[in-house]
Amino acid sequence: PLPVVAVIGRPNVGKSTLVNRILGRREAVVEDVPGVTRDRVAYAAEWAGHDFTLVDTGGWSVDATGIHLRVAEQAEIAVELADVVMFVVDAVVGATDDDEAVVRLLRRSGKPVVLVANKVDDQRFEADAAALWNLGLGEPWPVSALHGRGSGDALDALLEVL
Ligand code: GDP
Ligand code: MG
Repeated sequence: PLPVVAVIGRPNVGKSTLVNRILGRREAVVEDVPGVTRDRVAYAAEWAGHDFTLVDTGGWSVDATGIHLRVAEQAEIAVELADVVMFVVDAVVGATDDDEAVVRLLRRSGKPVVLVANKVDDQRFEADAAALWNLGLGEPWPVSALHGRGSGDALDALLEVL
């Protein structure tokens, strides 16, 4: 079986946009309204000749209720099923309490993590990405999932732990 890479993070940080960037096509549903990707969705993906299964997930929220609880459960399950996790943080917003909670979940899981500092659309936001070293998950990879900036480097980092 192919290795499974799960893309997790809060709603609206750009997970589905990143998935589409990696796939090179628009299959994952991107929405300005948070929480649209409600379930785990798996895609066949490839980078530099390496095949893997890429799983998009809904957002993960600490004080989750209702439909959001289901979304949170899906993300937690996605981490359990994953061989490697791509944890997406909105670098411009910075790490929130919800992000910190995900960090604790990831620590417990013991899974290798590639930290994607997303929405770094240009050089001005590089410092925001660097601030995410504080999460203690290793190097934050500055990426603009929207424009493609930095995504190749993040994927190269993914291959190192795949
Ligand atoms: P998800 O909820 O984490 O799956 O987030 P989406 O992929 O649906 O994206 C949420 C919003 O953020 C959409 O309006 C995207 O266009 C926007 N977005 C995603 N990636 C980027 C990025 O790198 N830069 C900017 N400026 N916006 C982004
Ligand atoms: Mg989504």
